[in-house]
Amino acid sequence: MSDASARRLALTTATSRPTRTIARQVDADGRPQRVSQTFGARVFHGERMKQRLPPEIFARWSETVERGTRLDRPVADAIAHAVKEWALENGASHFCHWFHPMTGSTAEKHDSFLWFDGAGRPVEKFTGAMLLQSEPDASSFPSGGMRSTFEARGYTAWDPTSPMFLMDGPSGRTLVIPSAFLGYHGESLDEKAPLLRSMESLGRSAGKLCGLLGSAVGRITPTVGPEQEYFVIDKAWAALRPDLMVAGRTVLGAAAPKGQSLEDHYFGSIPPRVLAFMEEMEEELYALGVWAKTRHNEVAPGQFELAPIFTEANVAADHNQLVMQTMRKVADRHGLAMLMHEKPFAGVNGSGKHVNWSMQTSTGENLLEPGQNPQENLRFLAFMAATVLGVHRHAGVLRAAIASHGNDFRLGANEAPPAIISVFLGDFLTRIVDGIVSGSVANLPAGQAMIELGVNRLPAIAKDNTDRNRTSPFAFTGNKFEFRAVGSSASISFPTACLNAAVTDGIDEIVAMMEGGDDVMTAVRKALTESAPVRFDGNGYSSEWVVEAERRGLPHARNTPAALAFLNTNAARTLFERTHILSHEELHSRYDVRLELYNKKVEIEGDVLRELVDTYVIPSVLAEIQATSGVPGSLAQARLSAVQDAADGILARRTELDAALAGVPDAGPADVAAYLCSAVVPAHHALRRASDTAEKLVADHRWSLPKYREMLFVNG
Ligand code: ADP
Ligand code: MG
Repeated sequence: MSDASARRLALTTATSRPTRTIARQVDADGRPQRVSQTFGARVFHGERMKQRLPPEIFARWSETVERGTRLDRPVADAIAHAVKEWALENGASHFCHWFHPMTGSTAEKHDSFLWFDGAGRPVEKFTGAMLLQSEPDASSFPSGGMRSTFEARGYTAWDPTSPMFLMDGPSGRTLVIPSAFLGYHGESLDEKAPLLRSMESLGRSAGKLCGLLGSAVGRITPTVGPEQEYFVIDKAWAALRPDLMVAGRTVLGAAAPKGQSLEDHYFGSIPPRVLAFMEEMEEELYALGVWAKTRHNEVAPGQFELAPIFTEANVAADHNQLVMQTMRKVADRHGLAMLMHEKPFAGVNGSGKHVNWSMQTSTGENLLEPGQNPQENLRFLAFMAATVLGVHRHAGVLRAAIASHGNDFRLGANEAPPAIISVFLGDFLTRIVDGIVSGSVANLPAGQAMIELGVNRLPAIAKDNTDRNRTSPFAFTGNKFEFRAVGSSASISFPTACLNAAVTDGIDEIVAMMEGGDDVMTAVRKALTESAPVRFDGNGYSSEWVVEAERRGLPHARNTPAALAFLNTNAARTLFERTHILSHEELHSRYDVRLELYNKKVEIEGDVLRELVDTYVIPSVLAEIQATSGVPGSLAQARLSAVQDAADGILARRTELDAALAGVPDAGPADVAAYLCSAVVPAHHALRRASDTAEKLVADHRWSLPKYREMLFVNG
């Protein structure tokens, strides 16, 4: 189609779509229910388990959650019975083990509770064995070469530390059991097991350090609060863009005249249709026990954010998947397309996930909270220093953890963190750290050193003073670190597991120094001295920083293939093996799966780009040439020659792209990735630019693809 009739129809649809509202839930007296009354209505959470389980069974389960002890069969049977009764009372007919294969999203296979009794009559049955383990056919999930099809068996195992919940279908309900996915020999085939192992590892090491510091604190867990950025546009536009459908981003499209340059969207009033979507989505999330807290407009037009209240890392990872799925589902009901891609539109901000991260004791103390007394402050300094040291030593692994084709478009572009991992501490904390490193308080007793350094004033100052340096990929924000380089569509599991691993290593180093006889301040000073190069508070977008970072020896991987190479190093293998998070083989499989994914994504984008150019752009350009040819007058002449130049550009770039594709080596995934990245991706960009030049010339009524100004600004 080389006319704009479909676009015009979409315009009518997008501007006349009514706002969908839902009835507020009311209590028996007809008063609107509070969120606190309905929160977790569909979750089999601790409180509910306590009500429904015999006390000794509940105690055993609590012990499993607290100390990681094994659940034996009778306990599992009792829990299975209780959860089945609750699920049936609430209308469930099926159950499923819900897991996170290495695809970045989730997978589920439903079984009904239906069984038969001794007399062959139908009954509902759910046993401890069914709760603990299930066996999906593992052969169709990526395993990174870890498993050949002839031993395709894998199994899912219940993660008792993440609560079960009821998932609504259009007319039914399913009991969902959060699980890890393992191969026949116990090898991890998913994103969950490494995350759980990393939490254990970090907890163990952090506990040891707390012990050396003289405070027994019980179990320590990493906490995570992932802020989720996203775009929504009218579904009518998305339906006319094959690139959004297939690749999740626009592979071509000239910039809108306005873009985000007026900076009028950020924190602006939320458009009513989007607000209606948010309200409905949040209601679903509350029922699922997701602590949705904050909603606001983001910087780009059509861009928004949801931030939850933080929770244990594995639950946060499950919840973030639920957030993404619920967003997609509910947006659709509102006639909106959910774009979770890192860079759906060129020239305006991309979307990320700011993974807020800290460590918490079982009594609820935050180990990165600067405290009120010297003892607490020493602990804060030790854990802060351990974190910075871990990030410094394993910056490459962290860079790899966030690497994806989508994130390549975002990192280092508008308002996104650069591709170099550095740590921002803010003025005040930097002054304290510099004081420690310079040795100015080295010989003072700890209490006095704290006063000299001004650590006592930190709690008040840190929060305000850790300003909004948006250019840092890893920033201290008062009582937590914020890992901002994670992509918006990514699972947070692997980045969080890598961060946990890195910090475990930092903590272990401080523990080793203290066990070797150093006092805590000396160990902190050594850690902060070693990690000095990674600390950077300046402008991460500046070209001077790139030069400076290289001078400091910080790793700088500009693209996914270069970043993933950090997973294929001895340093990475040692880190993951020593912390019991991934074996060599398991790590290599992550490397492999990610490379393959990169290669496939680049190829898919190339395919859709060529299709768009051949079947939309070129027909529009030809129609323009035809309409202008033979029209007398110098204006028509000038126009014709400009359009013809643009057409020549498209042809030339199109030919170059074919040539680049013809050169893809018949080699392993790493070589293919390197080639795609250096030869094919630039050819995509060049063809896109040529097409965008033509878009700005061709008569609007002959351009069939929705334009940026429509997708970004016309949404009801
Ligand atoms: P801002 O980043 O704007 O200062 P907040 O401080 O409220 O906003 O926090 C943003 C995110 O950080 C929220 O998701 C919040 O739950 C999370 N967060 C706060 N404290 C912690 C913590 N101790 N551990 C992990 N995440 C946290
Ligand atoms: Mg934040």
